[in-house]
Amino acid sequence: AKVGGGQTVSFFDAAMTRDLVRRREIEAELRAAIQRDELSIFFQPIVDLETGRIRAFEALVRWFHPEKGELRPDEFIPVAEETGVIITLGNWITSQAAKACAQWPEDVSVAVNLSPAQIRAPGAALGIHNALREAGLDPSRLELEVTESLFLDDDENTGRFMDELSALGVRFALDDFGTGFSSLGYINKFPFKKIKVDRSFVSGPNVGRKSEAIIRAVAKMGSTLEMDIVAEGLETVEQVNAVRDAGCNLGQGYYFSRAVPDYLAVMLLARERDE
Ligand code: C2E
Ligand code: CA
Ligand code: CA
Ligand code: CA
Repeated sequence: AKVGGGQTVSFFDAAMTRDLVRRREIEAELRAAIQRDELSIFFQPIVDLETGRIRAFEALVRWFHPEKGELRPDEFIPVAEETGVIITLGNWITSQAAKACAQWPEDVSVAVNLSPAQIRAPGAALGIHNALREAGLDPSRLELEVTESLFLDDDENTGRFMDELSALGVRFALDDFGTGFSSLGYINKFPFKKIKVDRSFVSGPNVGRKSEAIIRAVAKMGSTLEMDIVAEGLETVEQVNAVRDAGCNLGQGYYFSRAVPDYLAVMLLARERDE
């Protein structure tokens, strides 16, 4: 048993070491990547389901690595969060997103994803202020998307951060709604203006009569509370019709567009305004 156990341990050790080395590598490269301009922000439209017009774009970070190719945010955002690089990276993303939005028509907003670590960092709200000021963007055109994980070990700072920015006109969206445990409590307690229903309610094995009833109930609540309800991950016209019928007022997904570079976002807006 001892021999087998030993082998198991050393197997795990090797795997953990490999993982650690890879993380260290990603961390170092991430810091350099910002300098070297390997990161860019892509924009995915969020569409009004009544009019079909673009109401906002979500900023989604992309890393074009010279050797590894395109890296998905799911591969490097968690590393950035664990190592603290997310602070620098997050400020950079917010600033790029605000600058892009300043080029768009005034009725189009930008949505930026915030990690919990970014909000807990000292001077977090200041970083957002600075990005807005540098870009000359009205705070009411910025939306910050947060997930429930934000509230897990801290409410007070988070509440203060949200109140401070809400007072300026920045809006908050509760992202990936329906994947956590106590979203309703957070909606009750914090100043959210938007709910993004997770894509697992729109496509996949758990979609059916129940998921539709849940979307309907959430949409009803949203309209009573004057919140926007976004359905994420819309890929087909059937899904678009279903979530619209269920009462969602906004939609996002490949059916409308993938995330595109900033010049294409500008083109999408121009095309829609020429029609
Ligand atoms: P998210 O906030 O839920 O973002 C939506 C993700 O769904 C994006 O993946 C988007 O490309 C993808 N998506 C959009 N429409 C569809 C669709 O119709 N079908 C399918 N299958 N997927 C769709 P992406 O860009 O890979 O981002 C993954 C996650 O990484 C995001 O999930 C977000 O949590 C995180 N992330 C991305 N950019 C940032 C960032 O700038 N800062 C932070 N903190 N997190 C980010
Ligand atoms: Ca998001
Ligand atoms: Ca989401
Ligand atoms: Ca997600």
